[in-house]
Amino acid sequence: MDYHASTPVDPRVLEAMLPYFSEKFGNSASKQHSFGWEAEAAVEKAREQVARFIGAQAGEIYFTSGATESNHLALRGFFDACAGKPAHFMTSAIEHSSVREMAKHFSQKGIQVSVLPVDEGGQVDLEKLKKEIGRETLLLSLIMANNEIGTLQAMAEIGKICKEKEVLFHTDAAQAAGKVLLNVQEMNIDLLSLSAHKNYGPKGVGALYVRSKNPRIKLEPLFYGGGHERGLRSGTLNVPGIVGMGRAFEISSHEMKQESEALRIERDRLQNMLSEKIPGLKINGSLQQRLPHNLNVSIPGVSSDRLMMNLKKEVALSSGSACASASPQASHVLKAIGLSDEMAACSLRFGLGRFSKPEEIDFVAKRVVEEVFKIRGCF
Ligand SMILES: *Cc1c(COP(=O)(O)O)cnc(C)c1O
Repeated sequence: MDYHASTPVDPRVLEAMLPYFSEKFGNSASKQHSFGWEAEAAVEKAREQVARFIGAQAGEIYFTSGATESNHLALRGFFDACAGKPAHFMTSAIEHSSVREMAKHFSQKGIQVSVLPVDEGGQVDLEKLKKEIGRETLLLSLIMANNEIGTLQAMAEIGKICKEKEVLFHTDAAQAAGKVLLNVQEMNIDLLSLSAHKNYGPKGVGALYVRSKNPRIKLEPLFYGGGHERGLRSGTLNVPGIVGMGRAFEISSHEMKQESEALRIERDRLQNMLSEKIPGLKINGSLQQRLPHNLNVSIPGVSSDRLMMNLKKEVALSSGSACASASPQASHVLKAIGLSDEMAACSLRFGLGRFSKPEEIDFVAKRVVEEVFKIRGCF
């Protein structure tokens, strides 16, 4: 139930990758022999596959180590390229930590930063967004689908506003890609971050889409070296990983529609089973504008830490508190949609996926309900 954290590599993806570990191990930058050419051809095929999935040109895709790096390359790369100019950066209150931390860094560097609030459902208010745009606003970074509550933003409308106001539009689409329609032309997206491992590809590989015309975006590399990826991302390419990412997104191009519909049915079933049996259960995030495989709930009086502890051998779940620090912090996302610390401490995130079986969903619902009643002392 934790597909938002990572997904298993699809067997078809693994099969595509395997030859590139040993037989076809060439360095895609080796121009003098067939090992290099073979690796290069495989990378270029993957570039096409990823580009096609988002409606871009292959030449607009740059491979990275994942969405964290793609977010950094997009944001830091952009502001480094326009250093010296007065600059205003806009983002939302429900971003992934990689964008949040970048925003903090920008503030310290003298870039003006606006953090847009979201409504109860987790969406940015378009009127507030318009009001916030000023003469010095250069870039908006907005997470397309949130990783905790699954809220989808009104991408096409927001892209249109940005285009009209000449603000560049970056989106972190790590959770959205492979679940909902995504098109950089229709949505007027200028920069877009992807991760392979959130979509049945391997860990440690991702991509950044960089618009090449209307307008052409210029970024400063994060690091310098051999000039790989047209000078934007030096370092020997992770050929097997890239091949896997390409195959994973190709599969999504063919199967996403059907898969998302099936996931939505199972998610709704889980939601109904839980809300029928658990009095007071509250669903966090928009019911309509939401990833099809995401469910986030709060169960008053039932600490999610305790519930997860009781279920840890049977069900892999995640909660709305980051336990990285000694005192668990309520999730910034749940607070941004108005939850109290208490309700955030009672939250659970369910993420279904390609290999979830209906009988597993039944089992999860049954076990969660049982534990809730035990903890509440009603059993
Ligand atoms: C997982 C995730 C990331 C980070 O991706 P990595 O490839 O693991 O670096 C960034 N943004 C969102 C929304 C994510 O879910």
